[in-house]
Amino acid sequence: MKTIGLLGGMSWESTTTYYRLLNEGVRAARGGLHSAQILLRSVDFAPLEALQHAGDWDAIGDRLAQDARRVQAGGADFLLLCTNTMHKVAPVIEAAIDIPLLHIADATAEALKRQQVHTVGLLGTGFTMEQDFYTGRLTARHGIEVLVPEQEDRRLVHRVIYEELCLGRIEPASRREYLRILAALAGQGAQGVILGCTEIGLLVSQRDTPVPLFDTTAIHAAQAVALALAE
Ligand code: GLU
Repeated sequence: MKTIGLLGGMSWESTTTYYRLLNEGVRAARGGLHSAQILLRSVDFAPLEALQHAGDWDAIGDRLAQDARRVQAGGADFLLLCTNTMHKVAPVIEAAIDIPLLHIADATAEALKRQQVHTVGLLGTGFTMEQDFYTGRLTARHGIEVLVPEQEDRRLVHRVIYEELCLGRIEPASRREYLRILAALAGQGAQGVILGCTEIGLLVSQRDTPVPLFDTTAIHAAQAVALALAE
């Protein structure tokens, strides 16, 4: 079994989900007391979040590249960056390490294609919904059309992520808003909606809506389990 490298803590609320899903995935495949071999580097999110909102992505890239090198030095066979937003600096991280980075948008695109989804809604941070590193990759590399909520709803989705979900707060009122917003995207033609922030699965799940959901945390973790167990 390969060793899965995780760069997490962004926020740790979703890193715990990764940890659980990776172990459940290995147990489901191998049975008994089998569990995942994981090397986790978990960061202090506060200074990084401040850099995000200050727009200093160069500093973020430097820091996360350093952390990724630590995970590699510890013996990981490949790396998962446990946040969609920080994939903005994925090229910097990839350039700093020799092990593969499993890009969360590519993993998600593969899942969409398996379900024949060509037009998809996207919920995530403002950075993820509005900047090209994520939607551009889905469209240019994978031919998937991406719909995002209108501006006021994007603000709401972004605020809930940083002021509630990353702090472990699960509010029913926010769940209702998210469900309204993703239903609207489906109404505009989205065949499904990407939960494009690793904490959103803590708030909404497939039980809450008939709209097909693509939870990036679960998709990313499942891909990691498959790679870790591949011969
Ligand atoms: N975990 C989140 C994501 O998947 C947001 C936190 C961050 O900005 O990294 O985008």
